[in-house]
Amino acid sequence: MKVVFSEAQRRHDPTFFLSSGAQRPNPEVPARCDILLEAALGLGLTQVAPPDAGLAPIAAVHKPDYIHFLRHIYERWQHIEGASAEVIPNIHPDRRNGAYPASAVGQAGYHMADTACPISAETYDAAVASAHTAYHAAQLVFGGERAAYALCRPPGHHAFADLAGGFCYFNNSGIAAQALRARHERVAILDVDLHHGNGTQGLFYGRRDVYTVSIHADPIRFYPFFWGHADERGEGEGLGYNLNLPLPRKTGDEGFLAALDRALEHIAAFSPGALVVALGLDAFKGDPFGGLSVTTRGFAAIARRIAGLGLPVVIVQEGGYVCDELGANLASFLKCFAL
Ligand SMILES: [Zn+2]
Repeated sequence: MKVVFSEAQRRHDPTFFLSSGAQRPNPEVPARCDILLEAALGLGLTQVAPPDAGLAPIAAVHKPDYIHFLRHIYERWQHIEGASAEVIPNIHPDRRNGAYPASAVGQAGYHMADTACPISAETYDAAVASAHTAYHAAQLVFGGERAAYALCRPPGHHAFADLAGGFCYFNNSGIAAQALRARHERVAILDVDLHHGNGTQGLFYGRRDVYTVSIHADPIRFYPFFWGHADERGEGEGLGYNLNLPLPRKTGDEGFLAALDRALEHIAAFSPGALVVALGLDAFKGDPFGGLSVTTRGFAAIARRIAGLGLPVVIVQEGGYVCDELGANLASFLKCFAL
């Protein structure tokens, strides 16, 4: 199996992060790449760099004004007297179908769901590289590989068509799924990150060709709070093609695997041609976010059951933060696909 990785992804190095109102170091750091890459290479995966695929794969799921915003906002922000070094919103609209503001501050609020996605000089290029990483992994599976691992950073599953959030700018899993649609009539996305894949759900909420499934800590008391509840099932012709399986805080392997079995049953019934796994490793019991209690061995069990579907799989890295077991958790998951 190949690990797709772009060095340009290291250049995004955010500093700002608010946790319960307190400013702390941003945990979505370049060091994550080093740990994850070392673990993937340790399993014998072959490293490949994604070619520049241009903006087309990104524009297939993201709106033009949003792409334009991400590309230019840092430079515009520097012209504001006394502004922060990184772009951080300080206002959010309560009705996003209202007027589209012309000001940089107004647009930052319009296009950023929270303060966890600061934009620096390097953010746009890194986010594009991350999108290209996912796209290339999809191309490898397209070309006949059984599975491919996209080591994406920044992550993507909280990004909507025109809204950044939760460390995410472009929705890499969504971009991979959309690319797979060129060959497969139906594609499924299974998100096993600790947090609900709200952006991914948003991208495909009205569609029945991409089935979105997310297993995550119950958002009633956990990020992203406003999405991820069991009664969100899709809309219009997409009704019934979104499945949320929220879990009580601190759920361990047994509870997670029971939800996974349910998810896999639904995915099998949908009969997709290919699967995207939005692989967050932050459901780990020792992850700094501490929401669920999956073990290192649990990730291997999750992978085996997913592999049991027998589908071509694009594995897209989402969350999972620096802790002693981060590399071991990735290796535990990837092992059954690498062999
Ligand atoms: Zn997460």
